[in-house]
Amino acid sequence: MSDHQRGTDCIHAGYTPANGEPRNIPIVQSTTFRYATGEAMGALFDLEAEGYFYTRLQNPTNDRVAAKIAALEGGTAAMLTSSGQAANFYAIFNIASCGDHVVASTAIYGGTFNLFHVTMKRMGIEFTFVDPDCTEEELNAAFRPSTKAVFGETIANPALTVLDIGKFARAAHAHGVPLIVDNTFPTPVNCRPFEWGADIVTHSTTKYMDGHANAVGGAIVDSGKFDWTKYPDKFPGLCTPDESYHGVTYTERFGLAGAFITKCTAQLMRDFGSIPSPQNAYYLNIGLETLALRMPRHCENALAVAKFLKNHPKVSWVKYPGLEGDAHYDLARKYMPQGTCGVVSFGVKGGREAASRFMAGLELASIATHVADAKTCVLHPASTTHRQMTDEELAAAGVSPDLVRFSVGIEDIRDILADVEHALAQA
Ligand SMILES: *Cc1c(COP(=O)(O)O)cnc(C)c1O
Repeated sequence: MSDHQRGTDCIHAGYTPANGEPRNIPIVQSTTFRYATGEAMGALFDLEAEGYFYTRLQNPTNDRVAAKIAALEGGTAAMLTSSGQAANFYAIFNIASCGDHVVASTAIYGGTFNLFHVTMKRMGIEFTFVDPDCTEEELNAAFRPSTKAVFGETIANPALTVLDIGKFARAAHAHGVPLIVDNTFPTPVNCRPFEWGADIVTHSTTKYMDGHANAVGGAIVDSGKFDWTKYPDKFPGLCTPDESYHGVTYTERFGLAGAFITKCTAQLMRDFGSIPSPQNAYYLNIGLETLALRMPRHCENALAVAKFLKNHPKVSWVKYPGLEGDAHYDLARKYMPQGTCGVVSFGVKGGREAASRFMAGLELASIATHVADAKTCVLHPASTTHRQMTDEELAAAGVSPDLVRFSVGIEDIRDILADVEHALAQA
């Protein structure tokens, strides 16, 4: 592990060129790799030698970018996936299968909720959803003998609640299972969940890590701290021979530091193939180089927007965990003392129609189904993603008709505030 600060790791971790090699991480745009003998390649297939043989499993560009993300999170191993969806699916499916159970926070990204509640349910994996603000008692009551993992988001998209990582880690460990945390919104610049007890971290790198809306992608990072071998009956996939890989036992061959990611690559990437293109990994790396510069600016701008909205007569409520008085302000101070994220949500007085007029009045902020990149963008679910729903149906989905999700970019704050002020005057 590197002993540099995160701002330095954003630039240098994961790749050190030797004499005369490219200064930038090279894009290895090749599906295959050549070997002199069949035996040499056979050793790779048996996971007995290290090396590349087919980009569906691993590629040098991707691995160098993954190593940077591992360093940023303080983990022992990492892999890239082609999307955040694939990262969350793999992270859980690597240790849970048909008949198993997972405890998850209710406050998670809608796409992740659908993945768990609909698609993975069809695979025979059951989920129990718990309020992130529940008591330890309520949390412990959600576990079953078949529970294999606990899942939550450091800052939930779009609810903007903050996960009490310590509370969730304690409950997970008391039941002999790992805590998986989706750390997309704060990024490791603002929070490193491993320092608070999380075992596996996932990312939609599509958001701040890429930061410029260039490439969809995901990442999985292992802390190397969860001792699978203490629970061999719960995690047979990691602790007993894998017949689909010549009888390798991942925890024996790769240790706690490498077992989870090696199994995930060797089995899930091999069989599902959600690998990012090396070109996209390259874009992601360019984004990572400025992550430590961009995050403080996103947070500073978002706090200014949240404060402005809080005092505006046309705004009925504001949700931003970095805003003093917010229900999750204390948790945010504990886990993210340097800042949270750039996303603010708020309600416009006058409901759905007033929110629509506010949207129409924006000039700088673009209306986009995206969050967390350099350009300020905004979404009004009731008139876009959820437009077919009645106000009652929206309430049941936890989306109020007046809710505006505002993703604050890194433009000059004076221009962002002028845009918001001008649009609110028309709401
Ligand atoms: C966007 C997002 C995802 C899904 O990521 P994709 O890259 O869009 O597949 C997962 N988790 C969180 C918190 C997100 O914001």
